[in-house]
Amino acid sequence: MQAAGGAFEPLLPCSNLDCQGGGFEILEAVEWMISNRCEEKTGLLVCIGWERIKGRQTKPSPCTRAISYQIKLIYRKSDRAKPPTKNNAQR
Ligand SMILES: [Zn+2]
Repeated sequence: MQAAGGAFEPLLPCSNLDCQGGGFEILEAVEWMISNRCEEKTGLLVCIGWERIKGRQTKPSPCTRAISYQIKLIYRKSDRAKPPTKNNAQR
C-alpha cells in the first residue's frame, strides 16, 4: 500500500483538549472538490468528536468546535498525453 498524498492529513486535529476522537474531516471537502472540478472552496467544518467534562459522569456531548477553511486545488492538465492525430499518408 502506498500513501499517495505525502504529508496530507485527512483529519485535522481538534484544538479542544477535552475532545475525544475529534477532528475535522477536511478530506471529504477535498474529495467533493475533486469530483466537481472545483478549484477553490471556503466553508465551515464542525468537529466530529465528543467532549467529556472531567469529574462528571454525564453523557459526553458533541464537540462544538468548528473551523472555517479555504482550500485551493490546482489541477494538472493531462491533455498532453493525447498524441497528435495526423492522417498518415499511405502509399
Ligand atoms: Zn473536537
